[in-house]
Amino acid sequence: MSNSIKIKASGSVANVSCGFDCLGYSLDSPADILEITKNNSSKINISMTGLGIENIPLIPKKNTAGKAIISLLSKLNINQGFNVKIEKGIPPGSGIGSSASSAVGAVYGVNQLLDNPLTSRELLVHSMAGEAVASGGFHADNVAPSLLGGMILIRSYKPLDIIQIPIPEKLWSTVILPNYTINTKDARKMLPDQVALKSAVNQTGNLAGFILGFVNSDFNLISRSMKDLFAEPVRQTLIPGFKRIKNSALENGAIGCGISGSGPSIFAFSNEKEIANKIGIGMKNAFSKEGLSSKVYISKINQNEPRILD
Ligand code: ADP
Repeated sequence: MSNSIKIKASGSVANVSCGFDCLGYSLDSPADILEITKNNSSKINISMTGLGIENIPLIPKKNTAGKAIISLLSKLNINQGFNVKIEKGIPPGSGIGSSASSAVGAVYGVNQLLDNPLTSRELLVHSMAGEAVASGGFHADNVAPSLLGGMILIRSYKPLDIIQIPIPEKLWSTVILPNYTINTKDARKMLPDQVALKSAVNQTGNLAGFILGFVNSDFNLISRSMKDLFAEPVRQTLIPGFKRIKNSALENGAIGCGISGSGPSIFAFSNEKEIANKIGIGMKNAFSKEGLSSKVYISKINQNEPRILD
């Protein structure tokens, strides 16, 4: 059994327009890389390099990676310590699951080093316990896709019921990350406590259409369904030029486009790699008109669990 392991845990897009708080999908990149080594104590030591690390706490119970490991070890009743080196490839406050990917990489790696006492699905609650440090609540819409891969529907929290949705073969994702941060907790405070029954009915119809569109590879139905009546109307004000950027994606052939998580990243779907590239170029130009530089990530939906690196 090895004493050390390196894990790549991917970023993810939560909400996905009509799936506010109940849909999320996994990306190929960006990702956090975690190097985890057993130590000779019962302590967890965290160190970090990479993007946006200045304000991330290293105290294990305040860091999503540390808290996730504490939760896992307590479940297993194991007193082993670990050194965790995190290379942040996903800046915090980006809306593409920065805090979640550290939590996922941490429990995935520690479970491997302990010879896999738990299945990936059983690791989910421990990743969620880690993620709760950042979000202030138990959410699975970033950790579940990052841990299990694919497009995930969270049908219920009590009991936890997580479903992987079939993915159309030709579907491409474009994600743009501007050089700008939004605090998830602040973005959550903007949301109304209640929504009108009419909006709830529309959102339910769209979510059902979206899922059926995925199951049947019906891009037209997916496109008609990608509307968010809950979060996007209020949160778009946090993203400079959001409407122009979304319009440019749609004009360049996107099936649909919306805020990734609570922003400022924006995602779009298309049915060809060339279109996905064109959408990325258009959105990048639109962001630069707002005075913001940005990075574009193009891939199919990542259907894999975290990767063990050599
Ligand atoms: P994102 O949606 O990109 O995950 P959040 O705003 O939800 O961004 O999470 C960032 C918050 O989580 C910050 O307050 C950050 O300090 C905290 N945090 C704690 N541990 C980590 C970690 N390992 N990686 C990223 N953020 C972390």
